Amino acid sequence: MDGRIYLDHAAAMPVHPGVARFARQFPESFAGNPSTIYREGLAAQAAVAGAREKVAALIGAEDPASIIFTSGATESNNIAIRGTALRNQKLGKRVVTSAIEHISVLNPARDLQKNGFVYTQVPVDRFGVIDLDALKAAVTPGTVVTSVHSANNEIGTIEPIRDVAEIVHDRGGLLHVDATDAAGRIPVDVGRDGIDLLTLSGNQLGGPDGVGALYIRPGVRVQPVLVGGGQERGLRPGTENVFGIACMGEAARIAKEEMPEESRRLRTIRDSLIDGITGIEEAYLTGHPAERLPHHASFRFSRIEGESIQLAMDMLGIAVATGSACTSRTLEASHVLLAIGLAHDEAHGSMVATLGRRNSLDEVPRVVNAARETVKRLRAITPL
Ligand code: PMP
Repeated sequence: MDGRIYLDHAAAMPVHPGVARFARQFPESFAGNPSTIYREGLAAQAAVAGAREKVAALIGAEDPASIIFTSGATESNNIAIRGTALRNQKLGKRVVTSAIEHISVLNPARDLQKNGFVYTQVPVDRFGVIDLDALKAAVTPGTVVTSVHSANNEIGTIEPIRDVAEIVHDRGGLLHVDATDAAGRIPVDVGRDGIDLLTLSGNQLGGPDGVGALYIRPGVRVQPVLVGGGQERGLRPGTENVFGIACMGEAARIAKEEMPEESRRLRTIRDSLIDGITGIEEAYLTGHPAERLPHHASFRFSRIEGESIQLAMDMLGIAVATGSACTSRTLEASHVLLAIGLAHDEAHGSMVATLGRRNSLDEVPRVVNAARETVKRLRAITPL
């Protein structure tokens, strides 16, 4: 849109132009069910197999068969947590997550708790980094699955996944990592990082919405959450979203190729934005100052409220978030901001800017000025 500055890539990303080009190469007549054995079916099978290889390559998975395609990160998280916990419950009925996981991790864990599992949340420090000593205490020999994300979507903090994996594996458990916001932005390698299950979202890689993937390390046993046909090894029954899967694969390939350069570019814009906005009176960075996603800048402002910031910035032509799009309609304070130790009123004054490939350094002054003007105007009328 003309003159607009879009800074909410954590909520939705435009499809990468390379993915759009790839999509246009599909003939209009393309049809084929990967479960059939005639030529069209084999072409569809090949499209899915190609995508599996590209996604596996992005995350260092040796065997493409370890990837199953889903409808998105939410579904992958559900299969990873419920499917793994239920399939392995003879080994123990305990699950652990960090306190700042996405709602699509927290809710499956809470649901297990209602069904007889013991669920423990591990606290984080004021930057959002998981407390490793608390993790050591929480993960016991009966803990089947522990879920800690690579990085948080509201505050951008990157978690020490290799240390987490060591602790979980020492106690005989499985580690699930939600890499929705991290994959394609920072290196994620399931082998090197010791990850047993890993969630990916197609859109967050520059592909379409409504498609995702779950890596399952060979040998890890998971039961389906949805039951039906035998597609995706029976773990995700239903006719495959062939077109979406193929586009997600291409997005993964491009993300792997462009990541080093693009992350460097975004980091420069991010740092300039952080410098500018934290120069506003009573404006503070949330999340980790250094260990944060390259495209992620998040703030809080005293004495004003996030929804008002969002609306005022929108009127000035800038789209920003105030926390996670998935929970923003509840109007409750963000569980992430409360977990890093903010009081309720502090947690309400948040603004999150997540950058993408169309953003540039010359947009920063306009964003900073708009934020300064917004904050000044809102503080002048606040009852707080
Ligand atoms: N996990 C994380 C960490 C996320 O940031 C999101 C989306 N914001 C999701 C899961 C859910 O993704 P989807 O809505 O595509 O299922």
